[in-house]
Amino acid sequence: MRTPRKTKILATLGPATESPEMIRQLIEAGANIFRLNMSHASHDWSRQVVATIREMSAACDQSVAILVDLQGPSIRTGDVDGKLKIEPGCVVEFRNADLEPGESLSVTTNYSGLSEDVNVGDVMLVDNGEIHFKVTQQQPGRLVCEALTEGSMGSRRHINLPGVRVNLPALTKKDLLDIKLAAELDVDFVAISFVRDAEHIRYLRTQLAEVDFQAKIVAKIEDQEAVRNLSAIIDETDAVMVARGDLGIEVHIEELPVVQRTILKECARIGRKVIVATHMLESMIENPVPTRAEITDVANAVFEQADAVMLSGETSVGQYPVKCIEVLDRITRRIEQEPGAGFCEALELRTEKQHSVRSAVVLANSLKDSKLIIFTVRGVLANYTAHQRPVHAPIFAFSPSDKVVRALNMNRSVVPFEMQFADSPESTIRNAMEFLKDRNFVEAGDPCVILSDVLNQDFDTEAILLRKA
Ligand code: PEP
Repeated sequence: MRTPRKTKILATLGPATESPEMIRQLIEAGANIFRLNMSHASHDWSRQVVATIREMSAACDQSVAILVDLQGPSIRTGDVDGKLKIEPGCVVEFRNADLEPGESLSVTTNYSGLSEDVNVGDVMLVDNGEIHFKVTQQQPGRLVCEALTEGSMGSRRHINLPGVRVNLPALTKKDLLDIKLAAELDVDFVAISFVRDAEHIRYLRTQLAEVDFQAKIVAKIEDQEAVRNLSAIIDETDAVMVARGDLGIEVHIEELPVVQRTILKECARIGRKVIVATHMLESMIENPVPTRAEITDVANAVFEQADAVMLSGETSVGQYPVKCIEVLDRITRRIEQEPGAGFCEALELRTEKQHSVRSAVVLANSLKDSKLIIFTVRGVLANYTAHQRPVHAPIFAFSPSDKVVRALNMNRSVVPFEMQFADSPESTIRNAMEFLKDRNFVEAGDPCVILSDVLNQDFDTEAILLRKA
């Protein structure tokens, strides 16, 4: 019998994986969600790749979700001639693009408010956190800084400002254009980068509504301000990404695992989907096997109840994209068998429906080889069931809506299928059982706990049934 994997795999697409053949191989290896990173993806490329994903998903008879990751308000250096060699103690000026260079080494930035947001004594990190500067003078439109570390600084390098409250807008002009594209392509998730408070999520939601587009929102937690406003952000969003690339620069390194654990616990408690992202198998960009530390990091995400683990460079530009998915599949499946993996100490159940789902999950937990079978129109019942982290039962969710089915690919333990409901609840249940038996997901005699809030013509509302397969 086939045992589905609980933890979902999110793969970023790029030059290494844009071809139909690679996308097919990633789906077959177990990718559940594809990410388009709008920091790099053009609109034409995105259109082409989304069409390929849909084609390959149909060819493999396997639904997959698509996530558009907005670039967000990132601060970058301007163009420099070649690379600037930076030595500790060397003085570098960061200035607005419309100002003439001063006397020291001088680079422009794309953010004209930089000199207002940053104070003397603050630390600026450039190029993925590699070159450290301390601000020594602040003038209108200019910051004079002293280098604390050495490095070589190229064009358009990312600038991080740990602990600084940055007054950039939640969404840039580019993000607004990318939202229109996401709507045109009808993707399933839109991720907002550098979200700083819950208001930013509400603003994104209004922008999605402006283009008449319903997508689930993923809040990327990547700086200290987001960490300070964590519970309000988690409450407001549909899903959260622990974006450890930037987060690992913006917070002290020893804080990163603590922040990750806090985010995962809160998401598990109130039922928000959560993705652990970045550097999960970084060494596999160039090597065919992961490091021991990477294996343990992936395992830790499963123990901490992540809904999904994400690959970035590993699949977008790496040499072993399919192997990376296979490695994640092996580690996650093994860890999911451990007692306590995915167990949630405290659940906050807010609605009556969540309490009825509790009865079904408790029942499924008490029965050997049980399966949870959900009939859901909007996906809410499947979301609630996944939130309650059934100990061993997979959650097979049936919905007539392909959009609902695609989005459920992010929920831990949920295996979603599109199915039109029959005229009678009896026939719908029988069709679903046959479908699962044909695919070897259930065997005759398995106890199946059936939840529905849509088949209730003949049953009480929110029927919970126990059947033998
Ligand atoms: C991250 O910072 O971890 C991340 C996923 O964001 P991006 O790849 O857009 O920098």
